[in-house]
Amino acid sequence: MSDTRYQTANDLLWDLSRYFLMKVGVGESPALMFRDSHGFLMDPHQALEIIDKLKIAYESPEINAFVEQENQDLHLESMGIDLNHRYLLNGINVYKKKEFDPLKRKRSFSCAWCGTRVSSTKDKEYYYITDHYLRSGLSEQKSQPWEYSCSETCIRHVWDEIYESWMRERGYLTAIK
Ligand SMILES: [Zn+2]
Repeated sequence: MSDTRYQTANDLLWDLSRYFLMKVGVGESPALMFRDSHGFLMDPHQALEIIDKLKIAYESPEINAFVEQENQDLHLESMGIDLNHRYLLNGINVYKKKEFDPLKRKRSFSCAWCGTRVSSTKDKEYYYITDHYLRSGLSEQKSQPWEYSCSETCIRHVWDEIYESWMRERGYLTAIK
């Protein structure tokens, strides 16, 4: 998208918020015109200038790719996904560190990433995935128990796998950086 210069909402050229599109017929052809909330029709020169610029944008393959990317990113953000920080969801860490409680009964498990045996008798702490949202959205063979890991490095690998599988299953391939 390096060549596509686009303006943000702050650079609006025309504020069209008071206009709506009125259906008209030109001969047999259905058509549209701009009419404002007071009933005034837009000056044809102004309308044509808007239409020309709209055509330049919407006929451009680059703009079409930009529309798709922008809408995808917004959609993901609306689901709480932070595209700059994949270990956060709705601003909350997707994994946590937990210390074994020596007063509780013995526990042991294999690290979901490297398979190392972790146990409350020899280890002080472990990491686990706190997110259920992405994990529950995975297809069945992918949503196997991926909860506990021996280290932060391993739990991050576990999450990368969940995150990337989720994105891939939904076709959000550009979100996998
Ligand atoms: Zn591990």
